[in-house]
Amino acid sequence: MECRRERDRERSEQRWAAAHAGHEIVINSVGRRRCVTCSLAWRSAPVTDQDAVDRVVSGMPPEPMRPADRAAAVLELDARGLLSAQEIAVRVGCSARTVVRIRAARRAGLIGGAR
Ligand SMILES: [Zn+2]
Repeated sequence: MECRRERDRERSEQRWAAAHAGHEIVINSVGRRRCVTCSLAWRSAPVTDQDAVDRVVSGMPPEPMRPADRAAAVLELDARGLLSAQEIAVRVGCSARTVVRIRAARRAGLIGGAR
């Protein structure tokens, strides 16, 4: 009969693998797995400063602007559905590519909530 600790470890391995199925996994220097997808989500999830977001949306971005606030402003403008990626980029002071990247992150469920 196999050792109980061994079995517990196997179970936790399986749980980890199931939780991160389809995610981008890297192995760090000490051989531990790290989920890039989840850590990206975690990093882009800090509480946003609505005041800063409003300023970005209105075209007067605060200096410096936090990436999370800019992302929130992009999503807010995007939700109105009136502006192209390029127009949103000009408004919030980033590249159109960044707007596209932020939209993709939202579609992937990495940032923003359902609106
Ligand atoms: Zn993950």
